[in-house]
Amino acid sequence: MTDLNSHALAEVVLDTSDDNSIATTVASPKPTAVDGSGFVEMGLAPELLAALRDLSFTQPTPVQVRAIPLALQDNADKPANDLLVSSQTGSGKTAAFLLPVMHTLLQQQKQAEKAENKAWAEKVAQAVERGEEAPKKPRRKNPTDTRHVKPANPGALILCPTRELAQQVAKDAIDLVRHCKGLRIACVVGGMPYPLQIARLHNADLVVATPGRLLDLQRSKQLHLDKVQFLVVDEADRMLDLGFAEDLAEVHKLTEKRRQTMMFSATFAPRIQQLAARIMRTPQRLQVDSPQEAHVNIKQVLFWADNQQHKRKLLDHWLRDTTIDQAIVFASTQIECDALAEDLQQVGFSAVALHGALSQGLRNRRLQALRDGRVQILVATDVAARGIDVPSISHVFNFGLPMKQEDYVHRIGRTGRAGRDGLAVTFAEWRDRRKILDIEHFTQQPLRADMIPGLEPTQRAPRAGAEPKRFGKPSGGRSYAGAAAKRGSGFKPRGPARG
Ligand code: AMP
Repeated sequence: MTDLNSHALAEVVLDTSDDNSIATTVASPKPTAVDGSGFVEMGLAPELLAALRDLSFTQPTPVQVRAIPLALQDNADKPANDLLVSSQTGSGKTAAFLLPVMHTLLQQQKQAEKAENKAWAEKVAQAVERGEEAPKKPRRKNPTDTRHVKPANPGALILCPTRELAQQVAKDAIDLVRHCKGLRIACVVGGMPYPLQIARLHNADLVVATPGRLLDLQRSKQLHLDKVQFLVVDEADRMLDLGFAEDLAEVHKLTEKRRQTMMFSATFAPRIQQLAARIMRTPQRLQVDSPQEAHVNIKQVLFWADNQQHKRKLLDHWLRDTTIDQAIVFASTQIECDALAEDLQQVGFSAVALHGALSQGLRNRRLQALRDGRVQILVATDVAARGIDVPSISHVFNFGLPMKQEDYVHRIGRTGRAGRDGLAVTFAEWRDRRKILDIEHFTQQPLRADMIPGLEPTQRAPRAGAEPKRFGKPSGGRSYAGAAAKRGSGFKPRGPARG
C-alpha cells in the first residue's frame, strides 16, 4: 500500500435539544489520569493505540474522555450520535474527533478485507471442487501509477476555517495513522497548485479541507463527496465569522447520506445552535470547559501604555527577557504586522511576519521556520490565532488588540501548549479600556495590570469606577467594573528597561 507515501506527501503540504445535552463542565487541558488505560478502555483499534503511545498521549484529556465514547456509540437500532462540542483550543479536541472517525474507518476496512478474502477462498474451493486449477489472484494495481488515479471518494471530511488550522489537523491525523495500513490522509487548502493537490487527493480516505478549495475540487469532479460518512466542522464559530455559512450548507447537501456529524466551537452561541439545527440530527451537546475556565496554566498580565511608542518600548523590554523560548506577537492589522516585524528585525530580533496577504508558500515556510526553531518571534495577525501548535511558544504578546474577545482566548492559547505553562502579555492604551473590559467580561477573569519600573505610563492608570459606561446588559453576568481596584500586582515586577 502507499499509505506511507501519502503520509510523506501530506507532510509536505505542511510546511438541540436540551434533553440531549450533557452539561459537563470540566477544565482542560491536562489529561485526567496517569495509568495509561483510558484510551484502551475506549476500545480503540490497536494501530491507533500504538500511535498514541508514540505520541506519549498516556491518558485522554477531558474532551476526549467525553466525546470519543459518545462518537463511537453506534449500533444497529440507533444511528451514530451527532455531537455539538464546545471546547477550547489546546484541549485535545482534534484527537477527540479524529480518533473515533479513524477507528470506524479502520474497522470498515478490516471487515471489507475479511469479506474479500472469504469470497476469494470460496472461489478457490469451488474451482478445486470442479477439478480446475485454483485461480490466480489478479495483480494489484500500482496505486502510485497515475493511470490508476481516480477522483477521491473519502469516507471522512474535516472542515476547518483556515489553511493553518487545516494543515495542523492534517498533521495530527498523519501522526495518528502512522501504524494504520491504507488509511490515507489528504489536506485540501487554497493556495496550492491544483495538479499537486489533485495528486495528493488520490485514494484519500480522510480529507481535511477549507471549504472554498474543497468545493472547487468537487465541482470540477476531482473529488466526490457522496461516500462521506463522517463530517466534522472544526471551529464552527470561526467558520461563520469568515462567511462560510453557504459553503457549509452546500457541503451538508453533498454529504446528506452521512452517518455522523460533529461540530466543535468555542461557544454555544445562538448562531452556532442555529447552524447545528440545520445540519445535525438532535445533537448531543457537550460542554467541556468554558472560556472562563480555560487556560489555567497561562498567566495573563496587562500593561497600560501612553501611546504606540510606549507600547513599542514595553514590547522591546519584554522581548529581551531571557525566559522567552519562542513568542508570537499579535498585531491588529496586516500593515502593523509587517511594520512591526521589520522594525524588530532591524533591531536584531529573529522575527518574521505572518498574515493573510502573504502567499501560502511563504506562510508555510515561515511557520515551518518557527516550528524548527529557526525563528524566535512570529509577528502575526489573527490568521495565526488558531491552529498553531508549537509547544516551545512560551510567550504571547498582544501588541495590537484583537477585534473579537474570542480571538483573545485563541491568541493566548498559542502558549501553554501540551501541559506547559505560558505567559500572555497584553499592551493597551487608555483609549482601549473598553476593549479590555470586553475581554474581561468574556473570559470572566480580570486582567491583572502591572508596570515596569522606568516604563510606567505617565497618564493616570485606569482605576475603579473610571471605566466607560456599558450599554445594555453584559453577556457574562458578573461585572468586572471595579476589578481594577483589586488588581493587586501579583505579578513579579521586572528589572529596569533595557535596550
Ligand atoms: P488541540 O486542542 O487538539 O489543538 O490539542 C492541543 C495539544 O494537546 C496538542 O499539542 C496535542 O498534541 C496535545 N494532546 C492532545 N491530546 C493529548 C493527550 N491525550 N495527552 C497529551 N497531549 C495531548
